[in-house]
Amino acid sequence: MSKLLLIYAGGTIGMMRNAGGRLEPFDFDYLLDHIPELKLLPHQIKTLSVENPIDSSDIDFGIWSDLAQIIFDNYYDFEGFVILHGTDTMAYTASALSFMLENLSKPVVLTGSQLPIGDLRTDAKENIITSLEIAGKKINGKPAVPEVSVYFEYKLLRGNRTTKISSEHFNAFDSPNYPPLAEAGVEIYFNEELIRPHHKDIFKIFTGLSDAFVVLKIFPGMNETYFDILESGQIRGVILETYGSGNAPRFDWLQKKLKNALDRGVKILSITQCMHGKIHPERYETGRHLYELGIIPGSDMTLEAAVSKMAYLLGKNLTDKAMITAFKQSLRGELTEND
Ligand code: ASP
Repeated sequence: MSKLLLIYAGGTIGMMRNAGGRLEPFDFDYLLDHIPELKLLPHQIKTLSVENPIDSSDIDFGIWSDLAQIIFDNYYDFEGFVILHGTDTMAYTASALSFMLENLSKPVVLTGSQLPIGDLRTDAKENIITSLEIAGKKINGKPAVPEVSVYFEYKLLRGNRTTKISSEHFNAFDSPNYPPLAEAGVEIYFNEELIRPHHKDIFKIFTGLSDAFVVLKIFPGMNETYFDILESGQIRGVILETYGSGNAPRFDWLQKKLKNALDRGVKILSITQCMHGKIHPERYETGRHLYELGIIPGSDMTLEAAVSKMAYLLGKNLTDKAMITAFKQSLRGELTEND
């Protein structure tokens, strides 16, 4: 038996229809009333709701800090945590928490549902119950999955490798560049060799995220003015969503704008627009010119991982060298390091 904390942040899972027929977050008691099965689990479960449960499209850094703080305040009283969260930004929150919760050695499982708990065909129950089972699972006396993960529709995925792939199907998440950490069937099968090791260092949180960055997607027909944002003195980082294995057009104006930004110390991180695969800086001439300028290849990071890693590293005020090294390194298993 484990002591678990079930945290409600909002999302469809606990929503009800308002007078206009649209879904809106509702209070946690309503949700709990619909899962009497919680009492049957072999764990001691305490519940806690954020002050204002949200539709996760309203997520911001403040709510991430609140969630990190809740885990920090309760860290030594519980053996595992489950966060009920909307699916729209669940992959962002899971990625962000993976960086903000430093030296995490306990399970933090995020889950939600595509249909509200009150709907007959809801997917909420299975997701909550199995998430709690996973958060409470121990192997050799230690938590089986001591990292931030997302559980949805029979799969447990590494949080910072996860992306939302469907607004329709119950199978709403995937981690295209990393296999599932666990799969639930009749039994829950844990892929132990893929799970992050336990930390010996003291658990702490980092909440000083920076929002001084933008995401720019390369697309055919993009206009020079699209990159004017780089000239704003506020911007310290850019996530460039490049084609294929990390390519972008070799237009003179683009080259110039990127170089000017890099010369001013802006960090530009390249990730691929493809679902699968990673940045290969040397594969094409249309890629090489970017990395010779000093753009950082982001390997196989998802956009969600890149956004939260950027916010985290810019917030840390590292030296240029340390930041560039940290971008290329796997800090929490979020990327495959280049050999
Ligand atoms: N808009 C909802 C949210 O992310 C969708 C969901 O929960 O599935 O909060």
